[in-house]
Amino acid sequence: MTYVVTDNCIKCKYMDCVEVCPVDCFYEGENMLVIHPDECIDCGVCEPECPADAIKPDTEPGLDSWLQLNAEYAVKWPNITTKKPEPPDAKEFDGVGGKFEKYFSPNPGQGD
Ligand code: SF4
Ligand code: SF4
Repeated sequence: MTYVVTDNCIKCKYMDCVEVCPVDCFYEGENMLVIHPDECIDCGVCEPECPADAIKPDTEPGLDSWLQLNAEYAVKWPNITTKKPEPPDAKEFDGVGGKFEKYFSPNPGQGD
């Protein structure tokens, strides 16, 4: 199994998760992060750190498409290990539904 980043990370990117990951397996897109499924050691410490509740174990039902997205973009986006300030409008987007359809960007972020 692995942990995956899901919809509510989009446009939030608080990044509390990246600093606790012992194997540095977060990768940064333009407006969300993903976890590399083959690098994640399933320790679970990132899940409670995410203030947007966007990190889930892939054992939860209905996460297949998110697992695929995490796997696809973890090899396209740069590694991120250091927390940056969240976007100024992050709170406005916390909990908004359907963010993937409206806002997902395949563009890479800056990484470390
Ligand atoms: S803490 Fe949560 S919302 Fe923030 S970047 Fe990490 S996964 Fe995304
Ligand atoms: S479960 Fe552990 S290894 Fe996997 S992404 Fe979270 S902190 Fe990193």
